Amino acid sequence: MFIDFETFKARADKLQALMAEAARAAGRDPAEVRLLPVTKTHPAAAADYVARYGLPAVGENRVQEAVAKRAEVAAPLHWELIGHLQSNKAALAAQHFDRIQSVDREKLLHPLDRAAGELGRPLSVLLQVNAGHDPAKFGAEPADAPRLLDAALAKANLRVEGFMTIAPLGTTPAETAEHARRTFANLRAIRDDLAARTGVPLRELSMGMSGDFALAIAAGSTLVRVGTALFGARE
Ligand SMILES: *Cc1c(COP(=O)(O)O)cnc(C)c1O
Repeated sequence: MFIDFETFKARADKLQALMAEAARAAGRDPAEVRLLPVTKTHPAAAADYVARYGLPAVGENRVQEAVAKRAEVAAPLHWELIGHLQSNKAALAAQHFDRIQSVDREKLLHPLDRAAGELGRPLSVLLQVNAGHDPAKFGAEPADAPRLLDAALAKANLRVEGFMTIAPLGTTPAETAEHARRTFANLRAIRDDLAARTGVPLRELSMGMSGDFALAIAAGSTLVRVGTALFGARE
């Protein structure tokens, strides 16, 4: 059985307190760091809870699952794609998501731009970078990020708002934390460099999940994507 709203609310309150603590410890304003609940694999009720709690958006990692879920949710939420996007689903994703965080290769840019043009509204995107060099993770290689960014900025209907990354797991908790620190610092440096080079703010740094959000906030995250700590383990 899925959790009830009170359970969700208690977890979200606690998580946001921990996020604020991590921000203050890093000398940052807690208001700079927002929470994106990740509702993947969970029922539509999860998204309803998020809206009722007063958060503006949810994250999903599969296009079809999100399309089906969104049809069941009446609340005016934003839906963000955080999972790998196949080129042949780009147009569908542009239609159903308010922002796509997983733009990781140039091949996606044309179909997303064209679909946004046909819909008559700009599409917000983040560029996903494999900042931890994880062979098991998607994301552009850091060396390819400048070219991907330039190509994305050249698309009339795409709004490039920043970057997203996922830190690789280690074999021990200490190693996992070390990977997370290195990955998040690397993405932050890539962003700072590219923002300076292009003059585009690229403000959003989507990094941090249930296990590493505090390390991500210390490194400059503006958006943590949290599933397990809010909704419990996925099947
Ligand atoms: C599932 C997922 C999350 C949430 O992970 P948790 O560990 O459950 O918090 C965050 N980001 C991405 C890209 C995901 O696929």
